[in-house]
Amino acid sequence: MKKIAILGSTGSIGTQALEIAREQKDIEVVALAAGRNVGLLESQIREFRPQIAGLWGEEEAADLRERVKDIPVRVVAGMEGLLEIAAMPQAEILVTAVVGMIGIRPTIAAIEAGKDIALANKETLVTAGHIIMPLAEEKGVHILPVDSEHSAVFQSLNGERGNTVHKILLTASGGPFRGKKREELAGIQVEDALKHPNWAMGRKITIDSATMVNKGLEVMEAKWLFGVGLDQIQVVVHPQSVIHSMVEYEDGAVIAQLGLPDMRLPIQYALYYPHRRSLPGERLDFYKLSSLTFEKPDLETFSGLRLAFSAMERGGNLPTAYNAANEKAVALFLERKIRFLEIPEIIEACMGQCRYLEHPGVDEILETEAGVYAYIESRW
Ligand code: NDP
Repeated sequence: MKKIAILGSTGSIGTQALEIAREQKDIEVVALAAGRNVGLLESQIREFRPQIAGLWGEEEAADLRERVKDIPVRVVAGMEGLLEIAAMPQAEILVTAVVGMIGIRPTIAAIEAGKDIALANKETLVTAGHIIMPLAEEKGVHILPVDSEHSAVFQSLNGERGNTVHKILLTASGGPFRGKKREELAGIQVEDALKHPNWAMGRKITIDSATMVNKGLEVMEAKWLFGVGLDQIQVVVHPQSVIHSMVEYEDGAVIAQLGLPDMRLPIQYALYYPHRRSLPGERLDFYKLSSLTFEKPDLETFSGLRLAFSAMERGGNLPTAYNAANEKAVALFLERKIRFLEIPEIIEACMGQCRYLEHPGVDEILETEAGVYAYIESRW
């Protein structure tokens, strides 16, 4: 039995990870954690019987404790609960499927405890990649990418150890507003931005896809995961989302991973790496694929992507300022308090006022986040 713990089990990635556990039968789910969704976590506990379950809110945790008192499960709460689950001796792999920078400390705790990480929570690598990657190397743990693009790169790197990578080609669907110009995005409503053409995902990442900030975060994630320079990462807009990403080697060969958009594949690949397992579902039919098309990203309209390159170029705590500003701006947009085009404006303003730190530790990363939040609250 493979023993896994999942942080963010009630979300889009978390529920799909559980689908795999349900299907494969040789995964034991030893712990589950979520934010506030007591009802769904309760039914997951009843089905998967973890030893520990965590909720962020104390009140929700107390409610859950009461609801599952007929089951031998210990309910924990808050950051302490997440840290306990991350480091619990019974788990081999931690699936980090929480959204946002809340994932940093549990990911570090899990690596320190020697767990492999199936990493969906990209915000953690974006802001603390300089801490996470050397620590993972020191502890000899695998960071297994769950993001479909990074999984595609990871799969395209298989068996190529020692060969020189020339370029990583990160594909992007372009989101629901591909081809539109800035003026056309002025009146965008929350409902429009939540309609992703190819992927069904959580709300925050869906908005990030509409602004292309998600691709910016993925560029930073790729740089850390694969140890390449920024100039070796090229974003290619590919609206069909069939090629999930590619690697170009020094001889000009390009190796890609293709498939229908289905997050269960990269999740399952991370859980069973380096083995592949059967996965039920539709298959890519090349007779039906009329065309695969490619475009350059429009960095004028989608300035969030341009800003990601400049945040990563300077490094230090600027990726944190970028990410924290985006997290807050997306929350404000979802609450209908700001306009769609204000999201990149807020990111740029926050990067501009951030006190630069070249080698921030975890506390300084979290201070930068708090500083950005305070700045946004004072202005918007
Ligand atoms: P969702 O919003 O669907 O789910 C987020 C999960 O995190 C929920 O289980 C939520 O619990 C939990 N959560 C939120 N805050 C806390 C907290 N403070 N403590 C504990 N748990 C918390 O997000 P997604 O699944 O879409 O995304 C998760 C991560 O994976 C993100 O970093 C995203 O960028 C990345 N990702 C997602 C993809 C996708 O297809 N969805 C693809 C590639 C990457 P609750 O529901 O109870 O609030």
